[in-house]
Amino acid sequence: MQDSFGREINYLRLSITDRCNLRCRYCMPDDGVPPTAHDDLLRYEELLRVAAAAVSLGIDRFKVTGGEPLVRHGCTNFIHTLKAMPGVRQVTLTTNGLLLPPLLDELCAAGLDGINISLDTLDNAQYQQLTRRAHTADEVLHTVHLCAALLPTKVNAVLLPETTDQLIPLAELAQILPVDVRFIERMPLGAAQTGQATTAATALDRLRVHWPQLKPVNERRGNGPARYFHAPGMQGHIGLIDAVSHGFCDRCNRLRLTSTGLLKPCLCYEQGVELKPLLRGGADDTMLRGAIRTAILQKPAAHCFAQQENITEHKSMNQIGG
Ligand code: SAM
Ligand code: SF4
Repeated sequence: MQDSFGREINYLRLSITDRCNLRCRYCMPDDGVPPTAHDDLLRYEELLRVAAAAVSLGIDRFKVTGGEPLVRHGCTNFIHTLKAMPGVRQVTLTTNGLLLPPLLDELCAAGLDGINISLDTLDNAQYQQLTRRAHTADEVLHTVHLCAALLPTKVNAVLLPETTDQLIPLAELAQILPVDVRFIERMPLGAAQTGQATTAATALDRLRVHWPQLKPVNERRGNGPARYFHAPGMQGHIGLIDAVSHGFCDRCNRLRLTSTGLLKPCLCYEQGVELKPLLRGGADDTMLRGAIRTAILQKPAAHCFAQQENITEHKSMNQIGG
């Protein structure tokens, strides 16, 4: 269905947990986030009810996210059931990749349409510094190789001042593997409210020095707001998500559901429609559909990342789902 600005809303990000096995500095605060009580999380049946109601309003693409979605028991079964739901066209997953290898075959069999793997640096020491945990970038890179052989794979890297020297090595993954490597401007939410940010435009300038023949690609790839580029010899593409500096709000096609059931019209405002009281209070499908319609109609024209004082969202990204 269209929102009040004529945008077609066809994509829902479903956060299934706020827990994570990493503590990325731009995502979670130093002292962590108190995990949500199990009972406050939407159950898989509840998430599926929301998905079915969303489908009836024309939303046919879903991203399973978190926290780290693979830390929640039963994620693969959930994806299987979601993908098999009539009217669902696409189900993809965003993950840090660490728990992925033993689940990959099952996820492919479940009909998963694609995977986004977050990897901000190829340097093991820096990976540990950024994620505040002992895992290594090599582990994630190994998973990227496994995934690339099996299904459409994207690597997501948040642009950080301290990883400037990683731009070209990360982008080179699109040269040697059939993966899209996307650089995302760090959004000033939660743990990332302060500090210097790197713009997508700066990153593009650097990429163009390395690949002078890098050209924009007009075809639409995926559901996201990335602008894609390609240079001769690349197996994949390079994507830039200028979430903060440019704004792609006029093309925004999405809603977000937090793991506790808040349906968010826009990333940077805390407002949303609480679905849990409806789901647990006996609301029928018409009422649920009505609540989703309300959230769609509440979508603002644009985010306000450029005016930090107007940002009302104070949750961390792991609580929102990215
Ligand atoms: N744990 C999974 C992962 O890391 O892919 C899924 C959840 S994570 C919140 C989803 C995406 O949000 C990741 O690609 C992550 O890098 C991104 N993210 C987190 N904090 C961000 C921020 N402040 N600005 C931009 N992207 C951010
Ligand atoms: Fe966890 Fe993803 Fe946030 Fe990193 S970005 S702390 S992996 S939820």
